[in-house]
Amino acid sequence: MTVFEVTYRGVNGNEVIELESIEGHVDYEEVKRNIYCSTRGCDCRMAYVPRGIKVAHFRKWRGDEHSLDCEHYVDTEGGNQRRRRLGINSSRLRTDHKKGIMSDMYKKYTESDDDKEARRERERENRRNRTNKRVEKSQEPLEEIVNKPTTDNGGEVLLEGERNPSVPRNYSIIHVNRTQLDSTIALIDKIIDVKNDFDNPNEKRSVITLTDINQTMTFRIILDPVFFAQSSLNIDSALKGVEQRAANGGNMVLGAVGQVIERENELCISVFEQDALSINGKPVFVYLLNVG
Ligand SMILES: [Zn+2]
Repeated sequence: MTVFEVTYRGVNGNEVIELESIEGHVDYEEVKRNIYCSTRGCDCRMAYVPRGIKVAHFRKWRGDEHSLDCEHYVDTEGGNQRRRRLGINSSRLRTDHKKGIMSDMYKKYTESDDDKEARRERERENRRNRTNKRVEKSQEPLEEIVNKPTTDNGGEVLLEGERNPSVPRNYSIIHVNRTQLDSTIALIDKIIDVKNDFDNPNEKRSVITLTDINQTMTFRIILDPVFFAQSSLNIDSALKGVEQRAANGGNMVLGAVGQVIERENELCISVFEQDALSINGKPVFVYLLNVG
C-alpha cells in the first residue's frame, strides 16, 4: 500500500508532509531526516526516495518496521527471489543511451502543471492496488552479476545487444548525496554560472554551476583536461558561448551524466565527454545552433 503522507517531527511540533510537496519544503534537508509514519500509534521512521527511474515514494527507514496494526504493515506475498551478487562489471554507456536519458529527463523536468497532474494521477492509480512483495527466504538465491554504468575509459565497451546498465536519475541537485560518491549518475538542473579557463591548452578546465528551482543550493559540474582530450576541438568555442549566455541570464537547463567526485570538500560531478552533456535536452552544439 502506497504511503502518500508522513509526519514530520520538528522542533516546533508535528507537520503533515505530502509526497508531492516534500521537495518544495523550505526545510527539505531537515524534514527528510525526521519523518515518520502518520498512522496513529505507529512509530515507524520513514525515508523519502526522490523520483529517479522509479516514481518518488516514501519507504520504511532501513531496519525500521510499522507497528503490527498499522495499515502499512506489509501484506506478505512471496515470490520475490533472493539475489546473490557474484560480481560487478563496469560498462561504458553508449552515446545514444546518454542522449536518451538526458532528453527524457528534460521532458519530465519541464513538464507543464497539467501534464504533471495527469502523470501523478496515473502513478497514483498504478500504485493504489499494488501489494508489497516480500523476499522469499526459503528459496535458493538467484545469482547475478551487477552491471554498473560508467562514462570513463576504464569500463568495458558494451557489445551490441547487451543491456545498458541503469543510471540513477537525479531531477534536482538537492538529491545528490555522499552515498553516490564515485558512482555514475545523471543530473538535471538550472545553469547559473559558467567559468572557462582555456589559457593553457593542456590544462583546459570549465566549471558549470547549477542551482535548484528554489535557488537554495549550488552544485558544480567539473570539466577537467580529460574532458577536453575526449571532446571535439570546437567544444571550447561552444562552452564560451554557453558562458556568455549564462552571464546574460539565459535560461538554460543542463543535463549531465558523470561521476560523483569530491573537490574542495564538496560533492561535484566530473563529466568525461561532450556527449554526456546537454542543454535544454539537446547536445550542446545542437542547442547553440538553434538559439543562433
Ligand atoms: Zn506505520
